[in-house]
Amino acid sequence: MMADDTRPGAGTLAIWAGEDNKDFWGRATQTPVVHSVSFGYGDVDEWLDVALGNKLGHIYSRNTNPTVAVFEEKVRQLEGAAAATSFATGMAAISNTLFTLLSPGDRVVSVKDTYGGTNRIFLEFLPRIQVESVLCDTTDHAAIEAEIAKGCTVLYLETPTNPTLKVIDIARLAAAGRAAGATVVVDNTFATPINTNPLALGADLVLHSATKFLGGHADALGGVVCGVESLVKRIYHYREINGATLDPMAAYLLLRGMKTLHLRIRQQNESAMQISRFLRQHPQVEAVYYPGLESHENHEVARRQMRGFGGMLSFTLRGGFDAVKAFLPRLHYAHAAANLGAVETVVGPPATTSHVECTLEERAAMGIPETLIRYSTGIEDTADLIADLERALAGV
Ligand SMILES: *Cc1c(COP(=O)(O)O)cnc(C)c1O
Repeated sequence: MMADDTRPGAGTLAIWAGEDNKDFWGRATQTPVVHSVSFGYGDVDEWLDVALGNKLGHIYSRNTNPTVAVFEEKVRQLEGAAAATSFATGMAAISNTLFTLLSPGDRVVSVKDTYGGTNRIFLEFLPRIQVESVLCDTTDHAAIEAEIAKGCTVLYLETPTNPTLKVIDIARLAAAGRAAGATVVVDNTFATPINTNPLALGADLVLHSATKFLGGHADALGGVVCGVESLVKRIYHYREINGATLDPMAAYLLLRGMKTLHLRIRQQNESAMQISRFLRQHPQVEAVYYPGLESHENHEVARRQMRGFGGMLSFTLRGGFDAVKAFLPRLHYAHAAANLGAVETVVGPPATTSHVECTLEERAAMGIPETLIRYSTGIEDTADLIADLERALAGV
C-alpha cells in the first residue's frame, strides 16, 4: 500500500486486521457474532472504569459491540487511519458526520455530483439548520478552490463520482481545504481502500457505504467513517446518542465479505477496464465513462491517485431511453437493480438507482443523461460479461 515497509499489504490486512484476537469465545478462529445487547460486570469499579472510557470493554451494543469493533478495526487499518466508527448504513455515516461537524451559520463546500442521498442532505436538510451548502461543478478545481478560500467548515468530496465517474484531485483540494481551516471529508465508496487511500492524500476523514464494495455481497447494509481520532470520537458520540448503530449480524457479513476485498477489486478493476474498451469501440454505444480510459476527462488525475480504476463504469446508448429499456432485460449476467459493488454485475439507469431521490430537472442540472446506464462490474469471467453485452446490444 503506502511506502511503509512495516505495513502489511492490503490483502493481508483484509484477512487479518482486527481478527488476530486469541481470546474470542471458546478460542474461535472466526469472529463470533455477539448478539448480546449488554455486557455484565461482577465488579462495579471495573464497570465504572469501562463506562468512563478508562478501560476497554463494552457496556451496551448501541454504543459498542465486540463484532462491530472488529469490523471497524479492519476498515481502520485498510484506510491507514487513527480511528474508525461504524453506522447502520452509508447514509447514516454521511449524515452523522455532517451533522456532527456543522452548526448554524456554517458553510459547506461540495460538488454537484455527490451520491443522490448526500445531495438531498445538502439541499434539503442542512438549510433547515441554517448551514449554507455550496455545490460546485465537480471537476472545476479552480472554482472549488475559490469557494473554499471564501471560508468553509467542511469540504466534502466524493470520487469517482456516481454515476458519471468523474475524478476529483483529492491532494490538491485537501490542501486548499486545510489551508482554509476546513475539515476535509471524502466518500471513498467507489474507489475502495484497495484503489485509493484519501487520508494519505491529505483528507481528515474518509467514509464508505460498506453496503457496496466493502461487504461486496449485497446482503448487508453498513457505513463507516475513519480518520483523525478527535473527529472520529465526536462523530461516534453523535451516533451513539442518535442510534444509527451497525447491527452485529451485518458487521459479521461485512467482515466475511471483506476477506476477499482485494481479490474482488483486482478482478473488477481488470474486467471494468476491458469492458470499457469493448464498449468504446461498439457502434451502438454513444459514450463510455471510465477513469481508466485515456479519453476520460480526468484520466491523468485518476492515474495519480488510484492504484486501479475501479469496477464502476457507465455508458449511453444510441436510440434514447427506448434503447435502454430494450437493452437492460436482454442482459443475462446482470441484476437490473439499485445497488453496486457486489460480486454479481448490477446495472441500472440513474433515474432508478443513484439519483432516484432527484427530479428529472435536478438530474439534468447535474449533467446526468437520462439514457445513461450504470454498470457495476461483478467478478464473473470477463469474457462472459463482454459476450453478454455484445449479445444484448445485438438484440436492441
Ligand atoms: C450507496 C452509496 C451511499 C449510501 O450508502 P447506503 O449504505 O445505501 O446508505 C453513499 N455514497 C455512495 C457513493 C454510495 O454509492
